[in-house]
Amino acid sequence: MTIPTLSLNDGHTIPQLGYGVFKVDPADTERAVSEALEVGYRHIDTAAIYGNEEGVGAAIASSGIPRGELFVTTKLWNDRHDGDDPHAAIAESLEKLGLDRVDLYLVHWPTPAKENYVHAWEKLIEIREKGLATSIGVSNFLVPHLERIVAATQVVPAVDQIELHPAYQQREVTAWAADKGIRIESWGPLGQGKYDLFGTPAVAEAAAAHGKSPAQVVLRWHLQKDFIVFPKSVHAERLRENIDVFDFTLTDAEIAAIDALDPQDGSGRVGTHPNEFN
Ligand code: NAD
Repeated sequence: MTIPTLSLNDGHTIPQLGYGVFKVDPADTERAVSEALEVGYRHIDTAAIYGNEEGVGAAIASSGIPRGELFVTTKLWNDRHDGDDPHAAIAESLEKLGLDRVDLYLVHWPTPAKENYVHAWEKLIEIREKGLATSIGVSNFLVPHLERIVAATQVVPAVDQIELHPAYQQREVTAWAADKGIRIESWGPLGQGKYDLFGTPAVAEAAAAHGKSPAQVVLRWHLQKDFIVFPKSVHAERLRENIDVFDFTLTDAEIAAIDALDPQDGSGRVGTHPNEFN
């Protein structure tokens, strides 16, 4: 299984499809990540707040896979933005992961009411300079947040990881990011199962036409839009299904039909709005 890579604006590359471990029980994480690595995933997306970095680290350690073949992301939690605390936070994450660097470190949320995300971004720049994170980026940043950190530091994030799925395509931030060379990572790529995405004619008809599952069609849509995805599942069968998306191509008409699933009024959002999470 060869997973395509995308280039980042800092000269590094990222596997376009990975495995996300949000809500994977810490007690089950080592098993789930080991299974993911066995079926071919090489990119793991975790976060300090998920509480399962140790399980990710244990699975990596026992896998025997050379470090250079793996891509590991973790994230700075909201209560660690101030002072030098981001340095302590990355040290704790690396200890739990059993790694001396992560491939990508993200500011998890801007928490705009606290007025400290520019500071957090400055600290991530230091963390990258120390070699503790190869690439740095942000998550849940909207255009005003991105504009502010870039204006303050002249350092453009490598990625912005945002809620993105067919009913919530975030056209404003994705257009801004494309213009600045920021890669978009889609979180909740399957809509977290919170609305009937798989039953829509656009998805169901494409699935039937290609002999693929609705989930595979939606993941394929993300990939063809150049988004990075890391669907979450703890079931071996679905782990295999979600990576088996490189043997078919959606037509332009099929892509357009899925594009049209966004009501474009923001009502398709299933998670918290970044301005409301502080
Ligand atoms: P998702 O859209 O990947 O949905 C996951 C759910 O979809 C699973 O619980 C499962 O019920 C279902 N599913 C998975 N594979 C399926 C399949 N083949 N067929 C049918 N149903 C299937 O949502 P997510 O887990 O929230 O997002 C993916 C990853 O994004 C997370 O694991 C995490 O790494 C990241 N994330 C980041 C943030 C952030 O704030 N940065 C927030 C949420 C998630």
